[in-house]
Amino acid sequence: MRDSIVVTERLTKRYGNATAVDAVSMRVEPGEIYGFLGPNGAGKTTTLRMLVGLIRPSAGTASVLGHPPGDPEALRRIGVLIEGPGFYPYLSGRDNLRVLGRYRGLGKDDIEDVLARVGLASRADDKFRTYSLGMKQRLGVGAALLGRPDLLILDEPTNGLDPAGMAEMRELIVALAADGHTVLLSSHMLSEVQDICDRVGVISHGSLLAQSTVAELRGNSTLLIRAEPADVALQAVRRLTGDQSAMLTAEGIRVEGLAESARLARAVIEAGADLHELRTDERSLEDVFFEMTKEEVTR
Ligand code: ATP
Repeated sequence: MRDSIVVTERLTKRYGNATAVDAVSMRVEPGEIYGFLGPNGAGKTTTLRMLVGLIRPSAGTASVLGHPPGDPEALRRIGVLIEGPGFYPYLSGRDNLRVLGRYRGLGKDDIEDVLARVGLASRADDKFRTYSLGMKQRLGVGAALLGRPDLLILDEPTNGLDPAGMAEMRELIVALAADGHTVLLSSHMLSEVQDICDRVGVISHGSLLAQSTVAELRGNSTLLIRAEPADVALQAVRRLTGDQSAMLTAEGIRVEGLAESARLARAVIEAGADLHELRTDERSLEDVFFEMTKEEVTR
């Protein structure tokens, strides 16, 4: 297996008595889109800032592309968009990128390539101040792309965008990952990024509560059966699923997994019960996220 792109071990940042990031151990693998998710103030930006060496950890360690954070060797291979890039409002998108590209010794072709990749080629001569928020964000991603970095760190790239702008940003991020960039992005809205992330880490009050695939986070789907009499239906269902897999709840009979819905329906009816409803019941990721981050608050 190739080495992880980002590895942190109990990474911690304290400001006085307050702990902004509390012993976070996370891992970003090559080629993936990793969503770093948590409500406002959870510690996402602070973590990302530590990874790029903008601030120093109070405790714990981090390695980025095999180097300590802030190491010039690593920084050369990272593209960063944290807290909005500083663009010149009266320069065009192209000229803004040229200014940044000059620091990196990049030529005209590199700039044109980036403009095309972020979908701004046709508006490249317009002044930055005339750009929509979505275009400004995409130019920010373009700036992060200069020099073809292996790792892109994008802090809240969809923040404040309208649905169309968000969709464009998601498409762009997927295209960048397909093109070989590993992407670490943060968001406070799970629904904004759940479709594009290979894995997510959920952070709240500085602690990493979970790190898994989106599917694992959501948990298994269940089948919900509403039938009367419920005990007759339950017995019929259990004959097929075994006692462990079917439970009577306030909503109805809950069956783990999605297997055999047609057979279950038939069994309920044949047992003499009236079948009122049979549906799959997936917990929405937003619910999972909310429960997780809420528990942390009330703990
Ligand atoms: P947001 O989505 O609002 O940016 P976040 O998850 O990125 O949230 P951080 O910006 O990392 O959260 O902040 C985490 C906590 O650390 C917050 O309580 C914040 O007030 C605190 N914090 C961040 N920077 C400093 C600082 N320089 N001095 C003191 N406290 C800080």
